[in-house]
Amino acid sequence: MEEIFKIHCNKCGTDTIHKIFVAHSERRNIHEIIDYRNYEFWEDVTAVIYRCGGCGEFLFKKYRIWCEDGPDFPEKDVIVLPERNISVLKTPDRFQHVPSHIISLYREIIDAAVKEMVILCSAGIRAIIEAICNDKGIEGATVDNNLDKNLRGKIMGLCEKGYLTLKHAKSLLYHKFIGDKALHELRNHTKEELVAAIDIIAHTLDSVYELDNKVNSWNETNEKKVK
Ligand SMILES: [Zn+2]
Repeated sequence: MEEIFKIHCNKCGTDTIHKIFVAHSERRNIHEIIDYRNYEFWEDVTAVIYRCGGCGEFLFKKYRIWCEDGPDFPEKDVIVLPERNISVLKTPDRFQHVPSHIISLYREIIDAAVKEMVILCSAGIRAIIEAICNDKGIEGATVDNNLDKNLRGKIMGLCEKGYLTLKHAKSLLYHKFIGDKALHELRNHTKEELVAAIDIIAHTLDSVYELDNKVNSWNETNEKKVK
């Protein structure tokens, strides 16, 4: 068993070194009679609790090794709990000013991507945009004196109110997971495509909530200095 296990840490948000905290391994002997001959096999089942060298968080890993897979004996049926996040994505706990119900949605979208549940992930991406617009009181955008209330209108509404740049709004609009066709033309998207879509959502949360708060606190500090 590996003394040191390098894997993504959900809390640190990056790959870190994990060291064994406690481990248990046991051999199971298996006898099988094939054509009147007795064959003996074994498998080692191992359970380990590792601890992250960065934050001290624990993880559980279980696997088995089968005698006929020698000489390399690769680990089989590996289970790692809790499931790992996706290292390139900003983890939910890194957002400080996003409302809790929107962070819950963001967490669910990442969980769906980890488990490659494409339809749920696509629906979640649309739902989080709706939730951001509701939170900011944005009903849509004005087009030819009419209020466009569909998702496109709402994204443009975020832009009109200054929460997103036009470039950012367009990247949301033209993303295949977010556009109006996304839910009608369901097909097998790759995990990489899902991750790219969630990354745009993370940038949207930054623009709408985090930057806004940074600018406000910066303005307050400067107003105090002027006084
Ligand atoms: Zn960690």
